[in-house]
Amino acid sequence: MNFEGIIGQPVLVGSLKRAVKEDLVANAYIFCGPKGSGKKMAAEIFAKALNCRDDSADKPCNACISCRKMESGNHPNIETIRPSGASIKIKQIREVISNVSKKPFESGYKVLIIDEADKMTQEAQDAFLKTLEEPPANTVFILLAQSQYSLLPTVVSRCQVFYLKEVPRQQIESCLAEKFGYNGEQISFAAASANGIIGRAIEMLNNQELIDLRKRQIDLVSRLKGGSYTELSAAASELTVTKGDLEKLLDFMLSWHRDMLFIKQGCDVRLIINSHNADIIRSQAAGLDEKRIYRIIDAITRTISYVNHNVGIKNSIDSMLLNIMEVYNG
Ligand SMILES: [Zn+2]
Repeated sequence: MNFEGIIGQPVLVGSLKRAVKEDLVANAYIFCGPKGSGKKMAAEIFAKALNCRDDSADKPCNACISCRKMESGNHPNIETIRPSGASIKIKQIREVISNVSKKPFESGYKVLIIDEADKMTQEAQDAFLKTLEEPPANTVFILLAQSQYSLLPTVVSRCQVFYLKEVPRQQIESCLAEKFGYNGEQISFAAASANGIIGRAIEMLNNQELIDLRKRQIDLVSRLKGGSYTELSAAASELTVTKGDLEKLLDFMLSWHRDMLFIKQGCDVRLIINSHNADIIRSQAAGLDEKRIYRIIDAITRTISYVNHNVGIKNSIDSMLLNIMEVYNG
């Protein structure tokens, strides 16, 4: 993997590439962004580029001995610190700092990645701050955090901070299509539900259980028009063994009917969440006006609120199904 593998982060990639090329490397970086936004991958590619030995190519070359060691996870120049239990403790920071000053390592840069840096205790951050005040030579610290605000301002001010941006849905879709062999329906669903976070889309695509669940959900909503209530009620029961399942089903039904409204209003079908099922949604929408679609959406949101308050869940679902079927078939 090289910098080109980092999707949708031009500022970060541009700056890191320049730092490597011009050998103008800061002592410490903070990469901020939600889980799955690619912070760790960016840190690892940067570490690899900093240690790449091929000066003739774009770094990382992925072929020199250093790059190959990094790929196989055997490079002594890279170390990752993670929370031990709920936090990263001062002992861990002290240990790693003393290793940096003592342990001989290969030429290049020693890169210390602090994963979930927002979980460093106050003492750990104080100890780390001391190191940043007199940083060891050829050592780069990369802090990965969901937000910089849980870090001491004095730590933040000594680091170069990058924010990983949400990636536009179309860009996630084309990345998933080019790099993974998934089919269109899965890709569009994962990309639309990932809120701009590639890792979340990939996680969804790799989860067979989620993919099967999705198929069954589509089957259920497709039968709301003209289907049998008894069968639908039974199918809904099967799909909602836990409260989490139930929330997923309701979210899905909501996205489906919101899409229906968008289609009715003439919105571009490529932009809706369930774009690969646009044909089914369109045929269900035939004969319904916007007012009736709103009634369906209301029935679902009401049920979501009942479920949140644990009010007679089974009954709420059944009466929601009855209400929706009445709108469709009435
Ligand atoms: Zn290399």
